[in-house]
Amino acid sequence: MDTQTGFIIGVDTSCDDTSVAVLEERTGCVLSNIVSSQIKIHQGFGGIVPELASRSHMENIAFVFAQALESAGINIQQITRVAVTNTPGLVGCLLVGTGFARALAYQLGVPLHGVNHLEGHLFSPFITEPPLFPCLGLVVSGGHTAFYRIASFEHVTLLGQTVDDAAGEAFDKCAKMLCLGYPGGPVIDQRAGRGDQNAFPFTVARVKMGREYLSFSGLKTAAYHHIRVFGDLSEQTLNNLCASIQKGIVDALMDKAAFFFTRHRFKSFAVSGGVAMNSLLRTRSLEIADRFNVKCCIARPDYCTDNGAMIAHVAHVRQLDDQLFTLGTEATKKIQARKLACKKKQ
Ligand code: ADP
Ligand code: MG
Repeated sequence: MDTQTGFIIGVDTSCDDTSVAVLEERTGCVLSNIVSSQIKIHQGFGGIVPELASRSHMENIAFVFAQALESAGINIQQITRVAVTNTPGLVGCLLVGTGFARALAYQLGVPLHGVNHLEGHLFSPFITEPPLFPCLGLVVSGGHTAFYRIASFEHVTLLGQTVDDAAGEAFDKCAKMLCLGYPGGPVIDQRAGRGDQNAFPFTVARVKMGREYLSFSGLKTAAYHHIRVFGDLSEQTLNNLCASIQKGIVDALMDKAAFFFTRHRFKSFAVSGGVAMNSLLRTRSLEIADRFNVKCCIARPDYCTDNGAMIAHVAHVRQLDDQLFTLGTEATKKIQARKLACKKKQ
């Protein structure tokens, strides 16, 4: 390791994962990325309980930070910048991360950067692969589903997004109806491998607002009606439903990707967010990139769900303002972070 180089700390506490990462300034190499998941805490409730999530972040953050330093093999004095998610997310959760990051930056006298969580996801495929612009970016997570045109790390335009549920939310809600627990995405993915994806038809929703929008609420209702027809579900029917639901969600995403590829010129396709872990989405993304003759970059599985590495990475690739310790109480005001969702192209 280069002893002269500085190190960026990336902190993410936006939802139900407490994560701190260490990234080497000079190379952009991620030296550690510690994630403490709260799934066990929220599982019994069938979804995230915000108050429990923020309390758990408070209990874990110092320990996760210490682990990140130890695993990277650096000491606290070697930190040269601190980056933290300050929007969007659960406010109580964001405040834990921003408060911790502010105190750390203040104590060390180093710059503090507020990072948009969505930007973290959007650029996460480029942690491991060099970017090729212009790029069609798809962020597909538990809270967001949106397509962007990435002209450069500084120029990002929203092309279209869901008008209701996010794709991850659709996976989670369908899994809940099928009594498969939380989070639903991984278990539906697993069961889908043993089911017939054409057993139940889920058509791609047409959204009145325009071809650039997506909707998943109809799929959820259709799933509900299919499930209601059966009393007790046999293992095979359950697997068939999982496979069909998964295909319905991925079809909707790929239909939109194809629409944007025909409308704009792109050289690559970058897929990120928790749902990018999905095996069918990964395969179909590679296929569609091939069809439109663009390079496909899918976030590495450990950079798909929430993590501090993607936050430190944004501070590495973009010019961000230094907040000089003021960040934290502004977590609700969306300061500094670019309002990606507002930059819709006319
Ligand atoms: P957020 O940042 O919005 O909380 P994450 O990026 O942490 O979301 O992703 C969590 C979401 O990813 C959950 O909705 C979960 O069901 C989904 N997910 C995780 N793994 C898979 C998978 N293999 N297939 C489909 N969805 C998945
Ligand atoms: Mg996320």
